[in-house]
Amino acid sequence: MPRRFGAYGGAYVPETLVPALQELEAAWRTSRRDLRFRAELSRWSHTLGGRPTPLYFAENLTRRGRGAEIWFKREDLLHGGAHKFNNALGQGLLARRMGKRRLIAETGAGQHGVATAMIGAALGLPTEVYMGSRDMERQAPNVQRMRLLGTEVHPVTSGSQTLKDAINEALRDWITNVRTTHYVLGSAVGPHPFPSMVCDFQSVIGRELRDQSRAQWGELPDLAVACVGGGSNAIGTFHPLLRTPVRLLGVEAGGRGPGVGASSLVHGSPGILHGAFSYVLQDAEGQVSDTESISAGLDYAGVGPEHAMLRDSGRVRYISVRDDQALSAFHWVAEDEGILPALEPAHALYAAVRAAARLSRRKRVVVTLSGRGDKDLEVVLRHDARSAR
Ligand SMILES: *Cc1c(COP(=O)(O)O)cnc(C)c1O
Repeated sequence: MPRRFGAYGGAYVPETLVPALQELEAAWRTSRRDLRFRAELSRWSHTLGGRPTPLYFAENLTRRGRGAEIWFKREDLLHGGAHKFNNALGQGLLARRMGKRRLIAETGAGQHGVATAMIGAALGLPTEVYMGSRDMERQAPNVQRMRLLGTEVHPVTSGSQTLKDAINEALRDWITNVRTTHYVLGSAVGPHPFPSMVCDFQSVIGRELRDQSRAQWGELPDLAVACVGGGSNAIGTFHPLLRTPVRLLGVEAGGRGPGVGASSLVHGSPGILHGAFSYVLQDAEGQVSDTESISAGLDYAGVGPEHAMLRDSGRVRYISVRDDQALSAFHWVAEDEGILPALEPAHALYAAVRAAARLSRRKRVVVTLSGRGDKDLEVVLRHDARSAR
């Protein structure tokens, strides 16, 4: 389990957190090799989560692209409606093993909060979630879901009132209550061991994708595409494919464009955020910039350190897609396939259709459809009404 990805990663945290991170790393090291833990994880993934998720041929969308076949890895069908379940379940089971009696989490779009709330309820662990008050407004249905699941939601009113501020609050809580509490970090970010551990839990996406492609076509796809917020669904998709010839494309949020949006790999520079060295959107003094994106789940100034390394090495290409482009893709997929995608993967879907158009009909593109769009209906309808005027 690497502490560093090239120069990136590490654990730049207050000393009070070091023992907790070490305890977590030790627990994860033993658990990941423990057959009983793995059996438990895979049983819950199946019976509560609904894994494996299907690989779906988007035939009508393929016709729209007039090029390579477009396939979806259907994480939107996972319990809770997003890939977040994979990580929340893994960390919840680990916390229980470690004898922690309380779960805390941060959430942006609310998907990770909902996933943690579900796992907290299922495992009988009291759960509290920190959420930026701006995000609570944008994602009200998820706030209601968390509360119905028995989780306490704390509004965070500092800073930009989004994900970065919620992470700060959750870290503060963890430092105070570290003996009894596990912090279920929701993406492949933060100090070691979180990026490696979250990657492990999310890699079920890429492993299934690999096995399903081979079963379906006898070979791997030519291109895999995923959206990148903190980078967990993307690293989960990419990691099992890194040593294959599959081309990999990560898609960040460009906001309204042509500014930086929330594209830390495309527009940021190396720096430290939330305990890790990675690409960050920051000013000349290293102060973290405010981000903007139509999708709360991509609205984050940092990115997981493994992506920083993959960007520099060129193994993965990262691009930025604007709000209006993601909205177009949302409507294409809704009308062509009968699926309402979340606005986060709508960014990846746009890039996938464009990429497919440049490839021959014999090629195959797989997009990770990281979540379903029910949570975004209000945002989409509001934007549609505005552009109709
Ligand atoms: C949270 C979320 C994302 C962004 O998070 P990553 O860690 O980058 O995967 C993407 N899609 C959906 C549906 C989400 O809920």
